[in-house]
Amino acid sequence: MTEEKIINLRPHHLLCTQGYSGKGYNEAFVLNMTMITKRMRTEPDLKVRIVFSTDDLCTYCPRKRGEGICADDAKVLVFIKE
Ligand code: SF4
Repeated sequence: MTEEKIINLRPHHLLCTQGYSGKGYNEAFVLNMTMITKRMRTEPDLKVRIVFSTDDLCTYCPRKRGEGICADDAKVLVFIKE
């Protein structure tokens, strides 16, 4: 399996890509997210690798502050505890 056939996604981005309707932070983010969601919907052999860091959607996001760092980490990194 080549890296070109793998999309890296944070867990909550599985939901974001399912409901995506073409809106986002800016033009670069929307272009990237449109390309990724299109690939997920049209390439049956595409694999999704779940990552617990910034991912392929974050790459063009203005909220990304560095590798593994999102300006919204306080909201993104919410874990449910019993
Ligand atoms: S950098 Fe943060 S806000 Fe931007 S896509 Fe990634 S998780 Fe979402």
